[in-house]
Amino acid sequence: MAAFACQRCGACCRWPGSVLLEEADLAAAAAALGMATEAFIAAHAELARNRAQLTLKERADGACEFLDPDGRCRIYAARPQQCRDFPHGWRVEGCPGRDP
Ligand code: SF4
Repeated sequence: MAAFACQRCGACCRWPGSVLLEEADLAAAAAALGMATEAFIAAHAELARNRAQLTLKERADGACEFLDPDGRCRIYAARPQQCRDFPHGWRVEGCPGRDP
């Protein structure tokens, strides 16, 4: 497994693609924002392209809506498992924290 040190650049949060959500992700993110899970889903989630899961909504430019202008995640401590697992198990280019 390649070494990885997050540079907090936010690049991975701007790439196109879904942040697929499990039930635990929804509950954790909702709690972090002081919201009920149902309210979080209504405000921040939508049906993913696989039509089997929910994904976080994106901004018009394709970035995750939880990415602050300064490149920080607004729900970092409660970010979804897919975000926690990045970049291990992913094939990515352009991530400055990953060894070549
Ligand atoms: S939830 Fe946070 S870590 Fe995950 S894509 Fe959105 S901004 Fe990035």
